[in-house]
Amino acid sequence: MSKRIAWINGQFVAESEARVSIFDRGLLFGDGVYDVATVLNGQLIDADFHLARLGRSCAAIALTNPHTVAEWTSMMHELLQQTGVTEGLVYLQVTRGTAERDFAFPKDTSPTAFAYARTKTLLNDPNAKGVHVVTTPDIRWARRDIKATSLLAPVLAKQFAKEQGAFEAFMHMDGIITEGGSSNAFMVRNNTVTTQPLTHTILAGVTRHIILDIAEAAGLAVEERGFSIDEALAADELFLSSATTFVLPVIKLDGKEIGGGLPGPVSIKLRELYIARALQLAPPQDDR
Ligand code: PLP
Repeated sequence: MSKRIAWINGQFVAESEARVSIFDRGLLFGDGVYDVATVLNGQLIDADFHLARLGRSCAAIALTNPHTVAEWTSMMHELLQQTGVTEGLVYLQVTRGTAERDFAFPKDTSPTAFAYARTKTLLNDPNAKGVHVVTTPDIRWARRDIKATSLLAPVLAKQFAKEQGAFEAFMHMDGIITEGGSSNAFMVRNNTVTTQPLTHTILAGVTRHIILDIAEAAGLAVEERGFSIDEALAADELFLSSATTFVLPVIKLDGKEIGGGLPGPVSIKLRELYIARALQLAPPQDDR
């Protein structure tokens, strides 16, 4: 059992003691950014990519990142030590801090920064046997590349999915799939892996980036373009990716079986290769 210890504004405290003001702009306006990094075998995976994106998210909303990459990294290591989380995630959030409620930025507030760690089964995730996904219109704002804490649209999308017994919602603009509520979306056809290009339309998933590298190295063709729901329904395979799910085969979309309702060979291979790379970065403790 891991310990419920959080880090907030430089202090490690019991999660139940971690507090923010009702005037925190993260609470009032969703005026903040966050990131989520993977933990495997007690170690962080690709934390540099996640911290670089946190820095980009801060910069995009003119929020001063309160910590250097080295400071964030050492805090995360300490958090893992203190909580004992060995497989799961570290969640990081920075808000614009506490001030009298006013839409425009207040002067001289210091950001609120906090983090917590959670245990989650990653390597033996039962969802690796395939998940169901539904489509829903993408009603988010135009800067989805910023990992902002204002997440009402994905909250509603994922609730919609849950109510239909689905694991994830693939959001679409005029029938073109953008991404999942908290994942990137991929289609496989004739050994070509297709996913949205990196624009303001989607979040630049760290896992997406790694998967595309792995796919190319494995000799698969990679095509960065939007694909339609109709194409997805006719695809050989669909899968989704995120730091806390790796690669998950999608075996049903809007109630229609994909690939005969079983994980396809490309999705299975990419998950295996992704895990092999992760285990190289974070070998089991006993092997070191
Ligand atoms: N797209 C969205 C909207 C997300 O919220 C996430 C992760 O939470 C992703 C994609 C996947 O990003 P990553 O692979 O960096 O976890």
